[in-house]
Amino acid sequence: MRFRLAVLILLLGVLGFTSYRATAAIRMARAQSPFAFFQPEPPPLPEISLTDADIIRIMANYNLKQQDSPVFCHQLYGLTSFDQRQIEICEKVDTTQKEVTLLHEIYHIRYHEVGIDTGGPYEPAIQAHAEARFHQLFGIQPPAASAEPGAPANH
Ligand SMILES: [Zn+2]
Repeated sequence: MRFRLAVLILLLGVLGFTSYRATAAIRMARAQSPFAFFQPEPPPLPEISLTDADIIRIMANYNLKQQDSPVFCHQLYGLTSFDQRQIEICEKVDTTQKEVTLLHEIYHIRYHEVGIDTGGPYEPAIQAHAEARFHQLFGIQPPAASAEPGAPANH
């Protein structure tokens, strides 16, 4: 089964908020949604380690596919299939965006390894982890997500 994200995550991509502000945006959207009653705030995502060894182990066991499909790249920066053990990233974005996206997908996989599904409402938390790890690894802040309408998102 493919790992898919919730509509709220698409909203985040469209709005181009950083993770922190995106969380606030989600809360606002929920408060205004007639379906808010059916979307309770999820419990906080537990902290998890992601060592260099974890990254190497995961990449040794997953296929990394550079996706050149315009349809894919129009909607997504990245997508992971746990069943197929495949990470797809849009090849048309710059290297920095690819690196942040790859870390994002690796965090999904790391949580999946310990039995935690991080789809849907956890996307902002996953993105925050990815951006923090990128900063730790490369010593610079990742660029803010595009604020263009229809900008791709990670899933
Ligand atoms: Zn994601």
